[in-house]
Amino acid sequence: MMKSINPATGEQIATHAELDAAGIATKLDRASAAFDHWRTVDVADRAALLVRIADAYEANKDRLARMATLEMGKTLKSAVAEVDKCIAAFRYYAKAGPAMLDSNAIPLASGGSATVTWLPIGPVLAVMPWNFPYWQVVRFLAPALLVGNTGLLKHASNVQGCAALMEEMVLAAGGAEGLFQNLPIRSDAVAAIIADDRVAAVTLTGSEGAGKAVAEQAGRALKKVVLELGGSDPFIVMPSADLDKAAEQAVTARIQNSGQSCICAKRMIVHTAVYDAFLEKFSARMQAVKTGDPLDPVTGMGPLSSAEQRDTVLGQLAEAEKAGAKLLLGGEPLPGPGAYLSPGILTDVPLDSPFMEEEIFGPVAMLFRAADIDEAIRIANAIPFGLGSSVWTQDEGEKARFVRDIAAGMTAVNQMLASAPEAPFGGIKRSGHGRELGPYGVHEFMNLKTVYSG
Ligand code: NAP
Repeated sequence: MMKSINPATGEQIATHAELDAAGIATKLDRASAAFDHWRTVDVADRAALLVRIADAYEANKDRLARMATLEMGKTLKSAVAEVDKCIAAFRYYAKAGPAMLDSNAIPLASGGSATVTWLPIGPVLAVMPWNFPYWQVVRFLAPALLVGNTGLLKHASNVQGCAALMEEMVLAAGGAEGLFQNLPIRSDAVAAIIADDRVAAVTLTGSEGAGKAVAEQAGRALKKVVLELGGSDPFIVMPSADLDKAAEQAVTARIQNSGQSCICAKRMIVHTAVYDAFLEKFSARMQAVKTGDPLDPVTGMGPLSSAEQRDTVLGQLAEAEKAGAKLLLGGEPLPGPGAYLSPGILTDVPLDSPFMEEEIFGPVAMLFRAADIDEAIRIANAIPFGLGSSVWTQDEGEKARFVRDIAAGMTAVNQMLASAPEAPFGGIKRSGHGRELGPYGVHEFMNLKTVYSG
């Protein structure tokens, strides 16, 4: 039995029965049968389903958003924004997606040509996290359905209400049984599904540990895997930056989703010439964040997703202080039953401490001082992750250096990093491999067939 617990109150709101082996086998049969038909459906009809799914999300926006807030604590305002982003993605892939599947011919030196054609590969298993319970899944689902694959979802145990609603939306839109199915299972049931011949590939968004386990299982079964894992993104502020804007965005970039986003700016690296001025503005704004009831529209930050998640962050802060770091402000549990934690700032984290390998999944920023751009880049890259980054400078030469030298899958210039339905998303190093979104993401789970003709 999986439990949904409201992290704002600590109260259990629902339980969800787990699927047994026979139930899983039935769903795999359905996914496979649905694929046999769906892959032959005209792409225009597949795109039309995406539009109807977007309509279903639109019609159920409040229900969807409330479920996310109740299950994992994000503010209702941000949950509505997440559902809106999902709607935009379904509509975008319905409109722009078919052209991403166009064939093209390659002339051959020996005469004739080879045509490359994109074909679907089959049922894809998606193992997903709770932090953006709809968006993480839609990043996979909209392209999957468009290209003719079918989807199986193993969602995080604490957001099974969201998972069930997502399956309901596809059925409400007229999607055939088996096109997209929720599997209410725990992680120990994943290996057998990956090994099963009815499943073609697997995509995982989550922690490094889960990524390693799933990649190993996929490797053993020789199946393609895309991994979207953790990050400890740098947010670099140089002397020419607009400091007010940088400080304001740094706060949002750190405390969004209560600090529980893979692309939260987790390490602020500030040029020594503007360090003190930035710190003053940044700490004032961090202290001004309104933490409280996520259903209240004036709340800026809700609780963490669970009491366990808060304990993990508190344990990390203790570890950082043991390594020599100083907790300048915040990072304290708020009294009462919810899993609330005040926004905080850590300074003096030693670059050579094992703590640099950690991702703080909570609203506490690490602050570093850099003497020049070389040191800023060195600190930025002094982690095992390579997901996103944000750099603040008006200097064109510095911008080019950051783009070339920061080891990350994404760099945002003079803005905080945020994903968009149209642009590829993903990382390098221990942040994973492969891309979601955009034409590159669409092609990840496809068979690129080469056709030779005289
Ligand atoms: P998590 O514990 O790794 O869980 C993610 C999913 O993997 C859940 O469905 C979980 O199931 C499952 N899982 C865990 N261990 C598994 C195993 N050994 N085998 C198979 N499945 C397993 O991560 P989380 O705490 O939910 O999410 C936070 C992490 O996700 C952070 O590191 C964050 O940076 C990362 N993330 C990355 C991206 C990105 O796009 N790069 C986006 C969002 C989040 P259970 O819930 O049942 O354990």
